[in-house]
Amino acid sequence: MTAPTLAAVARPRAGAATLTVDLGAVAANTRLLAGRATGELMAVVKADGFGHGAVDVARAALAAGATRLGVTSLAEAVALREAGCTAPVLSWLNPPDGDYSAAAAYDIEVGVPSRQHLHAVAQLAPGARVHLMLDTGMAREGAAPANWPELCRAARFLERQGRIRVVGVMGHLSCADRPADPSNAAARARFAWGVRLARAAGLRPRDRHLAATAATLTDPQSHHTMSRVGAGLVGIDPSGTTRLRPAMTLTAPVIETRQVRAGTPVGYGASWSAPRATTLGLLPLGYADGLPRHASGRAEVLIRGRRRPVVGQISMDMTVIDLGDEPVHPGEVATVFGPGDAGEPTAAEWAAWAATIEHDIVTGLGQRLHRRVAAAAGRPVLRSLR
Ligand SMILES: *Cc1c(COP(=O)(O)O)cnc(C)c1O
Repeated sequence: MTAPTLAAVARPRAGAATLTVDLGAVAANTRLLAGRATGELMAVVKADGFGHGAVDVARAALAAGATRLGVTSLAEAVALREAGCTAPVLSWLNPPDGDYSAAAAYDIEVGVPSRQHLHAVAQLAPGARVHLMLDTGMAREGAAPANWPELCRAARFLERQGRIRVVGVMGHLSCADRPADPSNAAARARFAWGVRLARAAGLRPRDRHLAATAATLTDPQSHHTMSRVGAGLVGIDPSGTTRLRPAMTLTAPVIETRQVRAGTPVGYGASWSAPRATTLGLLPLGYADGLPRHASGRAEVLIRGRRRPVVGQISMDMTVIDLGDEPVHPGEVATVFGPGDAGEPTAAEWAAWAATIEHDIVTGLGQRLHRRVAAAAGRPVLRSLR
């Protein structure tokens, strides 16, 4: 028996819109990124691996060259441990009264942006390995430069008492997707200053990390000892410089067709009317499944090798496509987006149609979709999740 191809495994079970995750693509992207990074590669699998399945993406990335895992919340880190991931895990976004005892129980490293956080970690996770977080210019997470010297001093004080270990210093770039933006050099300089101050305070942070996907691909000066990459693992390159492979394919069967006369209004608000006699097809997914309603009137899908427009408003559970005179039958499968191999739209095109970014599309897909995991293009289905 020959193994089904990815296209075949992406075929939905009857009536279901289906999301297929290609772990071969994750592995290929990881190898490329690991080859570009001058230091270690941390696989960032927050937000359920950018909607692709945190544990699956984590395993695929670790097998292909990543050495660590990163997530935002402690709950995400605990979920990785409970699924059997044993690689080092860093969690960097928790409240000062977070459940740091979980960090101790599950051996999770924590990012620390303030003294308040630091003391909570020392109290609830004695001996924890911490990464001090410096705001390198986005005024979002991390200690402001004015608070950095005292954060370093407080950390060194607790370290000498054996209550924590400072193993890392981390920053984040706001404009790495625009490599020429002067704020990148400013952020790199601020990060270097932060590391110098940490050392001057007596700390010896082994992991110094600033770059995410875009800077890993475009800015070797930002690499230091580690890169934290998320988007790139699943095929998104915010810098637009590198060909990565999208790891997700979304398909849906046509569940009804109907022939309509010229002038027939379609969908809520009758926002579109058929300009000519045509055939309409109904797909069983909508904005509740993560198709952006804002893409109505612009989006397309691929069916029978041809792009067909989405017409009328995308509704909660349904999307209508204009099949023209194509004799499509109910049960035939439309590709909503995928890597683009067969001419299907990509998540990047859906993002453009909805005036957003690919991250927003892939992380916003609903729980109702049937999910499948493929080991690699051309290999059999690993698992059908629901
Ligand atoms: C999400 C995130 C990353 C990963 O960024 P990508 O651009 O997706 O690679 C890295 N670091 C931090 C702090 C993040 O929040």
